[in-house]
Amino acid sequence: MKNYTDLFIDFDDTLYDTHGNAVIALSETFEVFHLERYFPDPQVFYDAYWQANIDLWTRYSKGEITRDYLIVERFRRPLSAASDLDITERYCLEMSDRFLDFCSSKPGVIEGAHQLMAHLKAKGYRMHMTSNGFHEVQYKKLEACRLRDYFSTIILSEDAGSNKPSPQFFDYAFKQSGARRETTLMIGDNPQTDIMGALSYGIDAMLFNRWDVDPDIFPQPPTFIVNNLIDITTIL
Ligand SMILES: [Mg+2]
Repeated sequence: MKNYTDLFIDFDDTLYDTHGNAVIALSETFEVFHLERYFPDPQVFYDAYWQANIDLWTRYSKGEITRDYLIVERFRRPLSAASDLDITERYCLEMSDRFLDFCSSKPGVIEGAHQLMAHLKAKGYRMHMTSNGFHEVQYKKLEACRLRDYFSTIILSEDAGSNKPSPQFFDYAFKQSGARRETTLMIGDNPQTDIMGALSYGIDAMLFNRWDVDPDIFPQPPTFIVNNLIDITTIL
């Protein structure tokens, strides 16, 4: 194995339990906006939200849509399913603001995240958060889950001007971190943005296989695959 000195670590759903926290935040949003008026079965709303969210994030990563479009549209679509509603952009934005507030105040992390980061820090790795998440919420999440101090650098796509997996994002990440390609390992849960992005840029990549992705989907296999965060401590 190479002697890695720098780790580019994805944040959402790699360290931070973004999905779990958002499930709770979505039900809080549902209550605050009394959406039971339109959705007698809340699950109908949740399912429509998640379907829209996955589609929109995929398009956002490719640079096809803007952040402003994403945050409105992921609420507009499920709400439009309740046909008698007059859905304004303002209403969707209000809902989005509350939802993001609820999300970013949650401390929930993936099992083993704190233990892993303490281990990596003790081993002397320099750690750089590399994330497509929104600027205003990523710092709140970092504080809420108490992982901020482990990172030397916080690299966000909104600051980079482009998203993972684009090479421009990685150019920016190397410039900001001062890391070198040969001694850097990318760790993340997303096959496209984290793993294929890193590998095609020419850096090693470790897939945290949170979503049981079939390893055969990769044109170039990830350097490492782990199924839980604690397994990383046996490798690094
Ligand atoms: Mg992620």
